[in-house]
Amino acid sequence: MSTRTINGVTLALLRGNIVDVEVDAIVNAANAALAGGGGVDGAIHRAGGPSIMEECRKIGGCPTGSAVATGAGKLKARYVYHAVGPIYRQNPADPRLLAGAYQACLDLAEQHKIKSIAFPSLSTGAYGYPLDLAAPIALKTVIEHIEKPTSLQQVMFVLFGSSAYEAFERALQQL
Ligand code: ADP
Repeated sequence: MSTRTINGVTLALLRGNIVDVEVDAIVNAANAALAGGGGVDGAIHRAGGPSIMEECRKIGGCPTGSAVATGAGKLKARYVYHAVGPIYRQNPADPRLLAGAYQACLDLAEQHKIKSIAFPSLSTGAYGYPLDLAAPIALKTVIEHIEKPTSLQQVMFVLFGSSAYEAFERALQQL
């Protein structure tokens, strides 16, 4: 685990499974149809139970580069923020949609006035975004946000596997 304090807000990188962390909001790497899938999406729906998918069906979808909120079912959180990152091969050189997905979650956190949020590494699994490009975009978006007044006290990146953790560590040291 690696932590840094920015403007009184703790930014932490940790290795693990995002369904195990206790935070106000857990971020899901969703798809635009909010249809569920493998990876972190599958893990969140499995651990949270069917109420999350029922809410997703009612919402119907979410554009790429944005996020929507549902309850968190059986998870130890108040909300799940379903963020839709870009599919890398469709948009290789444009970091804005990835940054937008993170930013939309941070905006939801302010709306809900929550204190803690956990992100996975969006788009870097099935959506193919290279970790070494995605990590600095993720960290920069969060750091620029918490440099301003915020309700957040803790932002975590919960990274599954050592290559994701190491990419985020390298990016944090270089920022
Ligand atoms: P995407 O479709 O946005 O690429 P994926 O779920 O396929 O989403 O992958 C995003 C990242 O989440 C990958 O780095 C993957 O290793 C990671 N991941 C998969 N399962 C979990 C989990 N339970 N907790 C945290 N991260 C996870």
